[in-house]
Amino acid sequence: MPQDGLPARSAYVRVAVLGGGQLARMLALEGIPLGHRFTFLEPSPDPPAGALGTVIEAPYDDADGLARIAAGADVVTYEFENVPAGSADYLAARLPALPPPIALATAQDRLAEKRMFGELGIPTAPFHPFDTPADLDAALEATGLPAVIKTRRFGYDGKGQVVARSRAGAEAALGSLGSGLIAESFVDFQRELSILAVGGRDGSRVYYPLTENHHRDGILRLSLAPAPGASPALQAEAERLADRVMTRLDYVGVLAVELFEADGRLLANEMAPRVHNSGHWTLDGAHVSQFENHIRAVTALPLATPRMTGPAAMVNIIGTLPDPAAVTAVRGAHLHLYDKAPRPGRKLGHVNVTGRDAAEVGEGVEKVRALTGATR
Ligand code: AMP
Repeated sequence: MPQDGLPARSAYVRVAVLGGGQLARMLALEGIPLGHRFTFLEPSPDPPAGALGTVIEAPYDDADGLARIAAGADVVTYEFENVPAGSADYLAARLPALPPPIALATAQDRLAEKRMFGELGIPTAPFHPFDTPADLDAALEATGLPAVIKTRRFGYDGKGQVVARSRAGAEAALGSLGSGLIAESFVDFQRELSILAVGGRDGSRVYYPLTENHHRDGILRLSLAPAPGASPALQAEAERLADRVMTRLDYVGVLAVELFEADGRLLANEMAPRVHNSGHWTLDGAHVSQFENHIRAVTALPLATPRMTGPAAMVNIIGTLPDPAAVTAVRGAHLHLYDKAPRPGRKLGHVNVTGRDAAEVGEGVEKVRALTGATR
């Protein structure tokens, strides 16, 4: 018995998360049962993760906030990739910062990311850097038309990109997007998929089944898992791609790779070095979620090989809140709200739908989509 007469506490890991949004909230919701404690560095007041640990309210590059994280945590992880490089390097010099800063730096820049995919033999749409009007002809020669022109940095949820169908359209995009761009060929894909891979600190790797993703206005609306009709060969190909990225980046944690399926081939679109919206179904559709596996990874616990409990789907709640009583009354529906104020286009929560078979899940999804306004 310790001197203060209190029983010894269990050994816990102090986990710091840069960001206090819904991803941080779900990391903590899944990490607390493992006995861990959480601190969040978050600039805005009253964040979604606030109820689950200590919040240090400061910008991501605040020297005092970073020093407090470094002094009071055993490991630091992130809920978003746009962490200032100086902050990631400062933290990585003082405590395990996982996934490693190189993964953040690569994912922050679409050009660096696509070049890495190319070096690893991972197929992508043809692309070309596109910074000044002088680059226009070379870029369009590489991509053809239509082309998708994107900002290299800070694009998310379809923001910072335009589809150019003509040379004049591409020229206009230069004005609307600013500089630091990348042009890509428009991929006439059959569907969008994602693979969620997890790397452990001991070098182990596990994978979730391919997920089929449906976007509208650049925002993920619906995910289906496993991706209907995905063959074992397609799954194996996706795992191989993710595996190469993880090896290159010495990766620890959850890595999401967004893919286009076009004529039976997989093309990598982008990666997210963090837990991902297309993996939210794992909270109810797999026996260990992406959030728990991420926390297991960064706290050096063994990874769990994901086993699905059956087919699953996820419907995002965007902009307005549905009636919680109506949603929870739907058979197989699991409501997850993020404690955020409604605002147009804002992700406020999601509903996972599970069932015995795809038909039962499909029925639940239709009811939930009607209740959440997702069919509008
Ligand atoms: P991103 O920000 O790169 O994830 O792009 C957002 C969405 O735009 C993707 O989920 C696709 O639906 C679409 N998109 C992005 N790049 C391309 C492309 N090269 N060809 C066709 N559609 C694209």
